[in-house]
Amino acid sequence: MYIQTYKVKGMHCASCSSVIEKTFKKVEGVQSVEVNYGTEKVKVSFDPSKTNPHNLSKHIEPLGYSLDVPATAEEMGMSESEHAAHLGLNQSKKEKLAEVKDMRTKVLSAIPLAIFAAIVMGWDILAQYGAVSEMNYVVKEFFHHLLPLVATYILFVVGKPYLLGFYRFLRYGKANMDTLIGIGTVAAFLYSFAITAFEETLRPFINVDYQYYDVTIVVITFIALGKYLEARSKIKTGDAIEKLLNLQAKTALVIREGKELEISVNDVKHGDLIIVKPGAKIPVDGIIAEGSSFVDESMVTGEPMPVQKKIGDSVVSGTINTSGSFTFKATKVGSETLLAQIIKMVEDAQGSKAPIQALADKISSVFVPIVLVIAFLSLGAWLVVGSQYLGFSQALSFGLVSFVGILVIACPCALGLATPTAIIVGVGKGAKEGILIKDAATLEKLHKVNTIVVDKTGTLTRGKPTLVDIQNFSNLKDDELVSILASLEKKSEHPIAHAIVNYTQEKNILMSEASDFEGIQGKGLRGKISGTEYFVGNARLISDLGISFDTAKLDGFTSQGKTPVILATKEKVIGFVMVADEVKAESVEAVKNLHALGIKVVMLTGDDEKAAKYIGSLVGIDDVVAHVLPQDKLEKIKELQSQGRVVAMAGDGINDAPALAQADVGIAMGTGTDVAIESAGITLLGGDISKLVKAIRLSKITMRGIKQNLFWAFIYNIIGIPLAAGALYPIFGWLLNPVFAGFAMAMSSVSVVSNSLRIKSKKL
Ligand code: ADP
Ligand code: MG
Repeated sequence: MYIQTYKVKGMHCASCSSVIEKTFKKVEGVQSVEVNYGTEKVKVSFDPSKTNPHNLSKHIEPLGYSLDVPATAEEMGMSESEHAAHLGLNQSKKEKLAEVKDMRTKVLSAIPLAIFAAIVMGWDILAQYGAVSEMNYVVKEFFHHLLPLVATYILFVVGKPYLLGFYRFLRYGKANMDTLIGIGTVAAFLYSFAITAFEETLRPFINVDYQYYDVTIVVITFIALGKYLEARSKIKTGDAIEKLLNLQAKTALVIREGKELEISVNDVKHGDLIIVKPGAKIPVDGIIAEGSSFVDESMVTGEPMPVQKKIGDSVVSGTINTSGSFTFKATKVGSETLLAQIIKMVEDAQGSKAPIQALADKISSVFVPIVLVIAFLSLGAWLVVGSQYLGFSQALSFGLVSFVGILVIACPCALGLATPTAIIVGVGKGAKEGILIKDAATLEKLHKVNTIVVDKTGTLTRGKPTLVDIQNFSNLKDDELVSILASLEKKSEHPIAHAIVNYTQEKNILMSEASDFEGIQGKGLRGKISGTEYFVGNARLISDLGISFDTAKLDGFTSQGKTPVILATKEKVIGFVMVADEVKAESVEAVKNLHALGIKVVMLTGDDEKAAKYIGSLVGIDDVVAHVLPQDKLEKIKELQSQGRVVAMAGDGINDAPALAQADVGIAMGTGTDVAIESAGITLLGGDISKLVKAIRLSKITMRGIKQNLFWAFIYNIIGIPLAAGALYPIFGWLLNPVFAGFAMAMSSVSVVSNSLRIKSKKL
């Protein structure tokens, strides 16, 4: 099975997605299809031995669509990396711009013609009521003979997509939103044309004074204007990706054979030494080998302050060096870089479907046939019922107005745009703030979260503890005790281990070699030094060993939030050190903000209970659960979920992976620049819990935008259809003019897209 995403050409309306989905599902070898109108992309999984993208494209070509299947690197005679660069999103953006320009030209040509038509027809109506004097006969005849020509141009040139929609309906029996407009405007055109051509023959049967060229002209102009504005705004909804792409440096200054050489960023290899001059963009990810500087990482993490970088620190592509200069070794190139991953993630997320969209999709897929039926029924009703009261000729006139009006106003375009445009803007806005969202479903779920489970170390605290106290119960010197501890901790990755090793290095205490090292999950570790077996860890570990130790000795320290690290042999406790971690200044504020959003904050930690409670009270945590083994974190989350809570878990994403997966929303806090983007639904770059608050606000704002969009799109159709059918005519003698239907239809799409764009400027 291949899973591929292709750009679809020729999509004009949301119902196109369901037409394409249905067509593909019937093709042999296709397993699943997902079409997104917002991004105009299709994701198909298919069996390559049974079908291929060119074949798939053939299936939808008769319907007016095609797949944009890129030529392979081989076909284009390019290297894989050149090919990848060639396929960059910029390409389709250029096409999109050309398309928008073409729409603009057509709309600009149509607008004066529509105004002319409106004046000619409006004048007639006003003259009937005596509001203006009759037009001079010659002028009037001239204008009225000009209108069919104008209508022909508008219908066949500007309205070509709708005409094609009508044609496809006749030829293949497939209808989409263009078909509705097509049938409506063609009906108005043909009716009027028949009158122009056979005026005298038809005079006894119908009212030949009413023609509907203006309907064809004005409706198509409005809709084309709406589509143009929509397309223009849709480009804007996707500009977050473009900004990210622009962060990518094009070239890199590498050292090859002792010389400085400027090469394309696509040619940078692992291990290349790259020189970064003041003010330059960092081209790939790597580790500083020489020099130091401050780097502006705001484009990746959203943090405005430049970060200091020294030898051994990592730098990521797309960030900007300030005034220093340094050389770094490339560790991640091409699609491996953080920036490349961010771009891919944002693209995927923007193209994914939110569950809330399912309803809109279902409605638009049954909408078109239902509307066609309603339009014909209404025409029939006018002819049958209406002609009894009004006479045939008048009833036919009104019936036609209803028919066209319904087809035009019922177009569920706005419905199709409601969700995807908001998701695209929301996900893009997140990316700019360093909030990476995996898919639309995650963004949707996040706004329902009412409980957040956080890790202590690294999430609430800096995650960089230091050694602060030493308690020695043996006749070893303190330095000797620390040396044993550090020799064992050297092999551990735990932040506690770093604290002890750092302290030892700073004090120039020598370390020795440990053997038989073994980590003990959630408790500590064991290992041998010159034949003696040692254990290092928390009070749990000591009680597991069954040696007597008065834990009251720890209380004075732990009640100040310090974490004990106890050193013991199989027989007795040798001593302990205390490490302490600083609470992040932002944590307190963030927890307060989470409370304001009605969210309960639970802290889970493997740390000592007293220490954890102390930190918890500093930060304002509702519920502290200490001494949790990694596997129990998952259980605790299940427990909260069984109480009906919607739980988000924020953790470092590496040893908390199972808990992150169990939570309704898993949030990885990327401390520094090393982040496991794939592991969670949401990744917060620059690891700061205040971003969690922003992420939740973003989710709420986006969901509110979607709901507003859906509401307005529905309301508009629900009210519009009966109005156009003439439901109010028997009461008020009022019938919706198709011209207004066209205006309303255009405005509804434009307003939905603008409402989505508003999300961009909302403060998080
Ligand atoms: P947390 O991430 O909340 O600290 P862990 O499961 O990583 O949870 O660790 C739980 C506890 O086990 C720590 O608080 C510490 O007391 C002890 N521990 C774990 N690893 C080590 C280590 N390398 N050295 C000393 N103690 C450790
Ligand atoms: Mg941990």
